[in-house]
Amino acid sequence: MANEILSSLLKEYEQKRLRAELDLEKRKEELYKNVPRLAQIEDKLSKYAINTAKEMLKNNKNTINELNIYVEKLKKEKKNILESIKLDSSYLKPKYECLDCNDTGYIVNEDFTTTMCHCLKQKILDKSYNKSNISNLDKENFKTFNLNIFSETIDEKNGMSPRDNMKYIYDKCKEFVDEFNNPNTKNLLFTGNIGLRKNFYV
Ligand SMILES: [Zn+2]
Repeated sequence: MANEILSSLLKEYEQKRLRAELDLEKRKEELYKNVPRLAQIEDKLSKYAINTAKEMLKNNKNTINELNIYVEKLKKEKKNILESIKLDSSYLKPKYECLDCNDTGYIVNEDFTTTMCHCLKQKILDKSYNKSNISNLDKENFKTFNLNIFSETIDEKNGMSPRDNMKYIYDKCKEFVDEFNNPNTKNLLFTGNIGLRKNFYV
């Protein structure tokens, strides 16, 4: 199930990125129609970027410096034009939902390894949570759990009453939740046949 959830989320992320990029294209098209000089600047900037890469390969420092000066000038002009029409430079960037991973779901670390982004982790949790039967937490929680419905009569076989037995289980579950962030905490598994009251009771 975990893999299924991850692959469907990654597809969603891909769609999200695509939407953000298409949206940017539309914004650019509209803006360039109204302010053609911006389109020219954009065009020049991409040409200069290619030239700079070429000159870097040739290690042509003087030309690179000259190109950098032009680039800076153009960037400044672009910024001024945007400011004059009350837009900031983020207007010409895709609007991703998550600014930490740009909707890729992963963050590239300084050593070029990748870490799953908090947004993707949260979405996996949300999906797993909805697929489990624990999405009713506002009604079914520790506060509303009713021990009184369990008998106080001691069961000969167990040597304790069902209520004491349930109280013990309740305390163990509570302890598990309280220590959830502790990496040394072991998992909790409920097993047993149908009718053994593994469900929630109020
Ligand atoms: Zn993210």
